[in-house]
Amino acid sequence: MNPDADFAFTQGSLGDYAECARRFELRYIKRLRYPALEVNQALEYEMRLRRGDRFHKLVQQHLLGVPAELLARSLADDADLAGWWETYLRHGLADLPTERQAEITLQTTLGGQRLLAKYDLLALEPGGAAVIVDWKTGERLPSRAHLQGRMQTVVYRYVLARAGAHLYGGETIPPERIRMDYVYVAQGGQRVSLEYSAARMAEDEARLREMIGAIGEAEAFPLTEDERRCRFCTYRAFCGRGAAGDLSEFVEDGEVEEEGGIELDFEQIAEIEF
Ligand code: SF4
Repeated sequence: MNPDADFAFTQGSLGDYAECARRFELRYIKRLRYPALEVNQALEYEMRLRRGDRFHKLVQQHLLGVPAELLARSLADDADLAGWWETYLRHGLADLPTERQAEITLQTTLGGQRLLAKYDLLALEPGGAAVIVDWKTGERLPSRAHLQGRMQTVVYRYVLARAGAHLYGGETIPPERIRMDYVYVAQGGQRVSLEYSAARMAEDEARLREMIGAIGEAEAFPLTEDERRCRFCTYRAFCGRGAAGDLSEFVEDGEVEEEGGIELDFEQIAEIEF
């Protein structure tokens, strides 16, 4: 597989490849979209995703300077969303460095390929802490170990270390200064903070380099042998992998695609394509 010059890897595409090479092929090479429900309870699922999308847009507007009182007026129709918003205002920005960049995209290169990360918020203090903040609206709190190995954690911290100097007084950010905070607004604002280190960065780089190299050399994209991964996959119909899973078993991250429809945990940049 030879990516076009304008293709960029992201946490979403690498996460898909890690889960299932076939999913990567269908989504990023064949560009197939939404052929099947991801869960049984489609309406409730869609409502959850739309609420998560609204929340992220509210936070974005707030960080760009729109007064909180003004934004709160739009929440009368949704008590859950209003609750998340109050939680965000109480806990979302607590103890973070005051130099803040919302909805910012950074990119670096690795193995001859572009690697992008789009951040909810970067809060930095040159010479001090560099904190990546990612708000989550899912109803379950994943384990720390799960978040530590999550492709988003791997890519976001690595890209900031490689490409964040212009936000840090012109100095490369030492990995030990980087931290990733997941903030769960549906869990009372619980925060999971994941520190970084030079050793972890070296491990992550090796993992990313290996994945990107494997994708570049791949001649086939086999279906995953772990069929549990298919239960919430939108491509089940293409793969003959059975019925949708149940929403009650689903660990969602409450993230949505930038454009072209709703998709779970999918933060691709719109112009990415083969
Ligand atoms: S249904 Fe299963 S095999 Fe097919 S793309 Fe999805 S995860 Fe992969």
